Amino acid sequence: MNSLQDRLILVGEPLATLEEFFPGEGTFEENGTIYSSTVGRVLIDKDKRELRVIPAKTLITPKPGFRVIGSITGFSSHYANVEIFCMNGVKLSHEYTGIIGRESLGKAYLRFRGGGLRAYVSENDIVYGSIISTTNVILLDISYKEYGVVKAYCKFCGNALVMSGKGLLCPVCRTRERRKISIFYGEPIEKLVAKA
Ligand SMILES: [Zn+2]
Repeated sequence: MNSLQDRLILVGEPLATLEEFFPGEGTFEENGTIYSSTVGRVLIDKDKRELRVIPAKTLITPKPGFRVIGSITGFSSHYANVEIFCMNGVKLSHEYTGIIGRESLGKAYLRFRGGGLRAYVSENDIVYGSIISTTNVILLDISYKEYGVVKAYCKFCGNALVMSGKGLLCPVCRTRERRKISIFYGEPIEKLVAKA
């Protein structure tokens, strides 16, 4: 049982039988087996003989250096808002909100100087980055070559953009767009989640 409590549990994992424990919060029972209904960690209440799974969200507190994946939901004055749905390789059931600003871009900022933040990221983009600080807000770093936009969509027709030279191209309407692109651009999100 110890090994179960030491690691992250995924949704649908068989954890124990009804003879061993009662199914508690974060679990469900089927044909005498207790399964996890959330990503998290096992907690056993010995008095009640109850097995619970505590959601990962409550266990993961954003910290500087954590790698994240999120989507750009919009802009407010000097920042882009990011809904973070993955942190350090764990998919979050409830998103945290982070921001991207000029300070997120480091030296990459100089490359498109004058273009404003929208020259780097745009609505609905999926971005990969790391947390710089968590004071007041979660500020993200997308300056390194691994970081930046990993998936973007055409602003005219909504199709996924493909790499073309140093920029992005819509294969349908041929619109060219530019972003602060990650070297992982176009890789499946599932693969990136494992990296984060
Ligand atoms: Zn297009």
